[in-house]
Amino acid sequence: MARKKFRAEFRKNRGSRQRENDLTRDFQADRHNEDHTRDERISGKGELTRKRTIIGDVAADDAGLTAQPGIDLSVCRRGRVLSVFGLTSLVEDETGAHYQCATRRLLKTLATDQRHVVAAGDYVYFRPAAEQEGIIERVERRHGVLSRMSKGRRHIMVTNVDQLLVIGSAAEPYLKPNLIDRFLVSAEQAGLRPIIGINKVDLADPADLQPLVGVYARMGYRVLLLSARQNMGIARLRQWLGGYSTVIVGQSGVGKSSLLNAVQPDWNLRTSHVSADNQKGRHTTTTAKLLKLDSGGYVVDTPGIRQFQLWDIIPEEVAGHFRDLRPYANLCKYPNCTHTHEAHCAVKDGVADGFLDARRYESYCALVENNEPFADWD
Ligand code: GDP
Ligand code: ZN
Repeated sequence: MARKKFRAEFRKNRGSRQRENDLTRDFQADRHNEDHTRDERISGKGELTRKRTIIGDVAADDAGLTAQPGIDLSVCRRGRVLSVFGLTSLVEDETGAHYQCATRRLLKTLATDQRHVVAAGDYVYFRPAAEQEGIIERVERRHGVLSRMSKGRRHIMVTNVDQLLVIGSAAEPYLKPNLIDRFLVSAEQAGLRPIIGINKVDLADPADLQPLVGVYARMGYRVLLLSARQNMGIARLRQWLGGYSTVIVGQSGVGKSSLLNAVQPDWNLRTSHVSADNQKGRHTTTTAKLLKLDSGGYVVDTPGIRQFQLWDIIPEEVAGHFRDLRPYANLCKYPNCTHTHEAHCAVKDGVADGFLDARRYESYCALVENNEPFADWD
């Protein structure tokens, strides 16, 4: 993901009263301070002000760092954008009521890329107008942005995501651990908590899956054996999804729709029969839709995101996103070691000595040597 440094003014002694009618900057800086400490490096030691360098998704910061119009909080309501269709956003307020919202013109002109003024997942302030209609006045700073490159432009698919639910299947289609690893790298890079689900365990002997599950679990990942058909693991999955915004990914046919329908039957998502022909070259919509969980939180459903490519990572960064390899990579003789052909490589030693899982290492090598996004997709 292209990263860029921003320098933003950060006022330490904000008065809480002035904040409401000030421009958004203070508000945003404040939120950022609470939620994104992980992403920021503070430099300089000024008494009243200090400069902060914020590392973040460039497009994601458009809405945050641009000074946005002041809004009247006595008439504006906070809500979340569930989906965007053309110029209209479907916004849910905090009571659960839905509004079809246009976007205030001033807000549009302030953004650097019109298409990213409002995205699915955004938290917004909107002014209710006619019944169930409104105008979006302000977009809150985003975190957890999933975007993809399309014709050289960054296209935001969904914002404010917390978790990435990576689904594979034990059979039909057969399990592809390398694909899971690839999604894990994407999740680590985007700062999302991964959950790994292996579906269709009714078609396999769970004992065969245990070694793989063990490798992921030892790295600290949440792993679930699932069967949408036999309702296995669904209660736990529902529990892990509750209260968060989760994007579900995995190749087609592994049972994502079936699992979501098992988690919440009233979603009624369309399931498909496994057919390779069917999937290849099919142009699916990329419109993201947030589905509300009865237990709180959202699952983001969109066929476009399901097969997304978050893959603009440079090979040198991959090892840092392999949780198991990372501590060894720090011990290599050469700081720019790729852990592939070098002698004196601590990662390779770790594999040879049995401390690191050989399959994970091979998966790493496949990723850095064949840095082609999802070459083996369906
Ligand atoms: P998606 O493309 O990932 O959304 O997959 P679908 O939910 O459409 O499911 C693809 C196929 O797998 C359908 O024929 C489902 O009936 C089947 N399927 C889904 N979950 C399971 C499961 O747990 N066990 C078995 N045996 N089949 C399943
Ligand atoms: Zn090395």
